[in-house]
Amino acid sequence: MRIKKFMLLFMSLFLLTGLVQSPVNAEAKGAALKLGINDKVSAIEAVSVKDTYYVPLRSLADELKWTLTGLADGKIHIAGGTGSLTLLNKDGGAVLKDGQTVPMSTFLQDGKLMAPLKVSAYLGYSISYAGDKYLLRVKDGSAKLSDAEFTGKYAAELKPKAPVAPATPAKPAEPGKPGRTVYLTFDDGPSATTGELLDILSKYDVQATFFMLGNNMNQHPAQVKRIAKEGYGLALHGVTHRKEKFYASPAAALGEMSGANATLKKLTGASTTLIRTPYGSKPYFTKSFRDKVLSQGYHLWDWNVDSYDWKYKENSDRIYNTVLDQVNKLKASKTNPVILMHDQKATLKVLPRLLEKLKKDGYTFELITKDMEPVNFWKDKR
Ligand SMILES: [Zn+2]
Repeated sequence: MRIKKFMLLFMSLFLLTGLVQSPVNAEAKGAALKLGINDKVSAIEAVSVKDTYYVPLRSLADELKWTLTGLADGKIHIAGGTGSLTLLNKDGGAVLKDGQTVPMSTFLQDGKLMAPLKVSAYLGYSISYAGDKYLLRVKDGSAKLSDAEFTGKYAAELKPKAPVAPATPAKPAEPGKPGRTVYLTFDDGPSATTGELLDILSKYDVQATFFMLGNNMNQHPAQVKRIAKEGYGLALHGVTHRKEKFYASPAAALGEMSGANATLKKLTGASTTLIRTPYGSKPYFTKSFRDKVLSQGYHLWDWNVDSYDWKYKENSDRIYNTVLDQVNKLKASKTNPVILMHDQKATLKVLPRLLEKLKKDGYTFELITKDMEPVNFWKDKR
């Protein structure tokens, strides 16, 4: 047997000595959040480094009753939840149960091995995050509270305490930087290639929001579940995507959104209030439509960057330049880009290059949430 196993008992010593890793520059770190685990707030503090939340792996494993096994070369095998994976050294990524390697980085902080919280997503847990509510939470089937109930119950506990004696003046939080947050959105899914799309998003460690169609959710239920499980944004795009049906009347439009929401709920247990109408809300989604649908609590989202990926398909250069031209224009007015793309095979080709460029240009990627002021063509703020 080539792999030499160490006993769990020696793990902490192993972690201190077995890994040669550079500590992360303190400046690259964002605010810490208290990690929620199911219906409790744990003592674990998650630190944000370059848009990813990291937690001390040992503490998380203790809380969730995972088994950690130190292997040769500093690899760590984690078994827990509904699966297992092997964490490789430093920036080596992780090998999943099916043999697939996914990107993942670890580092040492105060002698503790810090691993991305998304490790838990690969073990079957779901992760919720809402920066404005200080919510970062890992759940399995045993959680009873909804995220809203959770943040309501623990509001005071979750709120970060003001630092006692700050050594350096506080800097404004990175993610809030006006004009430098991208909201990636994918319409018309899920599709046969959603899995590949999610692999790319995961590889670049970026967030995105999916405006999904009821019919497609029914056709690709596993993809919907994966989108939800991995913490991407859930949103609705109606059922039929047929202009004459969706815009037949305000009641028809509401019926499609409610129908799609029921499908989403059936598949994931979650529902959403985020909607985007087929072909965008102008000109057909007039006031009588909006009054009917938005009075039910829905928030209307269009976009301010159209990738034209539906039109240029495999012509990646055209899509790439089209997006960057619009993004650069928005930068001048410090407006955050809301980019319209489609969950389709052709888009997979341009996506890695585009994400690489946007990251290089200093953009961070966030989810659209119900608490944001919606971006739509009617400037309807409901
Ligand atoms: Zn569409």
